[in-house]
Order: sequence, then C-alpha cells, then structure tokens
Amino acid sequence: MATVPSISETISQFKRKDITVEEHTAKALDEAKKLNQDYFYYNVISEDLALDQARALDKKAAKQGIQESREKLFGIPLAVKDSICVKGIESSAGSRMLKGYFPVFNATVVQRAMNQGCVVIGKTAQDEFGFGAFSVNVGLGFAIPRNPFDKQRTTGGSSGGGVGITQKTGYAYASFVESTGGSIVEPASFCSVAGICPTYGRLSRYGLIDFSNSMDKIGTAAKTIQDAALLLEASAGHDNRDSTSSASPVPQYTSFVGKPVRGMRVGIIKEAFGEGVDPGVAASVRKGIEWLEQQGAQCDEVSLELPIKYGIPTYYLLGTSEASTNLAKYCGMRYGAADPLEGNFNSYFTKVRSHHFSEEVKRRIMLGTFARMAGFRDAYYLKAAKVREKMLQEYKHLFSTYDALVSPTVAIQPPTFSEIEKLTPLQHYMMDMLCVGPNITGLPHLNVPLPFSKGLPVGMMLIGDHFQESKLIQLGSAVEEQAMKHKAIQQ
Ligand code: GLN
Repeated sequence: MATVPSISETISQFKRKDITVEEHTAKALDEAKKLNQDYFYYNVISEDLALDQARALDKKAAKQGIQESREKLFGIPLAVKDSICVKGIESSAGSRMLKGYFPVFNATVVQRAMNQGCVVIGKTAQDEFGFGAFSVNVGLGFAIPRNPFDKQRTTGGSSGGGVGITQKTGYAYASFVESTGGSIVEPASFCSVAGICPTYGRLSRYGLIDFSNSMDKIGTAAKTIQDAALLLEASAGHDNRDSTSSASPVPQYTSFVGKPVRGMRVGIIKEAFGEGVDPGVAASVRKGIEWLEQQGAQCDEVSLELPIKYGIPTYYLLGTSEASTNLAKYCGMRYGAADPLEGNFNSYFTKVRSHHFSEEVKRRIMLGTFARMAGFRDAYYLKAAKVREKMLQEYKHLFSTYDALVSPTVAIQPPTFSEIEKLTPLQHYMMDMLCVGPNITGLPHLNVPLPFSKGLPVGMMLIGDHFQESKLIQLGSAVEEQAMKHKAIQQ
C-alpha cells in the first residue's frame, strides 16, 4: 500500500496545484461513505458543508495566490466526535435523546480548526455520551464502529469512530476526540493511531456536550504525532466562553517532534506491568522503552500506587455523579427528544427517558444519583474528590524527578465483539485501569503506536505533568520514529 501523505505533504500538493481542495474533499467524502458501509465510523457525513468549505478555500487561495495561504491545516479533512458541536450539522453525542439537534454555533475548537483551513467531513461514532470503552454502548439506532484491522473486533471507545477513520483513511486527516476517563488513548491504542489527551483546560470545552465537567477534555488524533500536535497547536488556548480554559501560552508543539531526548528522565510504572497485562503488549512496550534508552533517555522503574489501585472506583463515582446531573436536563421539555405530552410530569419524564436512553445511560444515572443522595455525598463524591487530591500528590512527587511516566495504554489488545458480550459491566469498566489516573487528575497523556503483537495493535502511554504536552510529543516522536522503521522492515 502506498504510504499516506502527511498534513504538510497534502498542503504542498495544494500549493503545487496537483489537486484542488474541492477535488480532494470529494475524494475524502467518497471514501468516508464507502468505509461507512462496513466500518460505521461516521454518524453523519457533512457533505454539503465540506464541499462549501472546500470551494471557499479554493476561491480564497485563487484570490490571494495559493502560495500565500498561511492556514496551518489548509484543506485538511477533519473528523469531529459526535459530542462536539458543529454548526448546522446534527450533533447527538451518539444518543437518540439528541437526534435532531442541529447546533446554531461551532464548538470553539471546531471554529479554530476551520479558521486554519480544516474541512469538516462529519461527526464520528461513539459510545452514547461517552459512556464506554468499546463503542458498543452506542445510542438506540446507532451503528457500532469496527476495528480497521479486523471487523470482528472493537475500535475501543468512546472515541471509536474518530480513531477508526483516522487509521483507515488513505488521506491525511485530523480528528477531534474527547476523553473523560481514557476515551482518547484507549481507542487510539486499539486502532494504532497517535492520540493526545491534553491537560484539563488546555482546549476549550465550549460546545462539548458534557459527560463529567471536572474531567472532560477535547483532544486530537492523527496518523502521526506530528499531525496530532499540529491540530492541538491550532486549537489550543484561552477561550472567554469556557471559564476553565487555561490562559497559559500555547507552545509550538510541532517543534518538539524529533527533538533529541538525551538526558530526559522517564519513570516506568511498575504496577502497570503486573497481572492481567498481555505478555505481547508488555514486550512491545518494553521495546519502546529500550528505544528511548538507546537514544539517551534515562528510564527507571517507579511505583504509582493510588491511581492503579483506586482509579476505577474514584473515576466512576466522580464521573457518574457529574453525568447524572448533566443528563437531568433531558426531560422531554426543553432539551432533547420529546414524546406526545401525556400524564403528569413524573410519568412523562420517566417515559421520555426510558424510551430514548439506552441501558448504560440508565445505569450511570442510577449510580450517580445514588452517590449524590443526601447523606451519601460525604461518603462517596466528596471522598472520591479527596482521593483525587491524594493521587495528584503522588503524580506530582514523581514529576519532581521525571519528565514523563510510561506504561502500556491498555493491558490487552482489541477484543472481539463476542468476547465483549461476555463481560460484566464491572469488567467493562476495568478496561481503563491504566488510563483513568491521568484523566482524574487532568494530566496530559499520549498514545504512541508500537509494533503489533499477533497481528494486532499495541500502544504505549506517556503521561506528563500539567501543561507538559511538549515533553510527551518529544519523547513519543522518538519512539514513533523507531516503530515506523520497524514497520518498514517488517513489510
Ligand atoms: N471508558 C470510560 C467510561 O466508560 C471512559 C469514557 C470516556 O473517557 N469518555 O466512562
């Protein structure tokens, strides 16, 4: 298979006039439609919007001279997770409750990417409201996306459609994804793409359909770390519309790709290589660590207890409590789906919610509502918030010595759908064991695709201190370069 051009190579093709943005976009749309028949990566393909944007870019380039165009993502196809609003395009967070919702505004990140020349191809498939790790918890009437390497397997979740198309496409793509507890790096690992979950507050959440406000982060995915970093750079920065967005300056993330790693210090999380980790996954991640050492990084084993031991219960208490309050507004009156008005408010509210939410959403509403009940708040939500503080202290202590921490992203490789069917809800929740920690504490983390084991993807996760995305990009690209050489030899 011919290698896929990068974002900058694609922009050069436009500058050389090898192809117009409109022609390129038409091809990307055809591909999206074709792939959707078997892989279901998109909930909506925004053909009219994409072609309008493409024509406008061609026109602008003709007017000012294509060589003069300064947009960092000129003409690049953009896939947007369904939970991130795009003006005029149905944005339902994968839920039947939000079918028919056409936002009248763009999420800030989408607007920024468009300002840099991105062309929105569509809204990508996900677990309903982000509630899942395999993209099988899709809303009623939605299709389940398939792993690009084996259709019988999961893409991971909840950002499954976004990473699936990013891997499967033959074009340079940029993709907006979202993570509350692991929904960027986990599917990125299962589909072998670069996925960056930035520091909480690095990218504006304005226009993101909430799951858990204290943990939600929009992030980026692409075939390479360079391209994921480019989208991050184009969309980061303070936003008056999101009071939790950070005002700290945005570095030029792409300038850290390929920077020497000699002298950097990396902590290998001992607990993340223990029981339950697939030996092939562990071996591949160890190889990645060896590559870092060969390039002069100092890697030592470290211990990280709390996030691995208590991460899952802490995450599910915080996450479901916040989600259950966020979902209360979908009551059939002002927001979301409505049914014919009958009965009193209680019976109507119950009917609408029973009818339009799927099972997992109901489970989370019940868990979260229970945890927030009068008398239980101190025992659950507030306790979880305290554990979060303790975890942060443990990470901060390690970051006083180390530039980054490393572990497998997920302990296993993408399971088949029939294996997933056999899991209990708790086993399903355990999938994020290694990646809930940085999510709870708002720390940036990155999935680096590694050489495959048994023909399936493996990912390495690098975790950094707050606002240290650049270091992750630097270290990650050092591993990525070796992984690509390895792949070239194998082919
Ligand atoms: N898998 C986790 C969950 O089910 C994380 C989801 C997410 O990050 N949106 O909640």
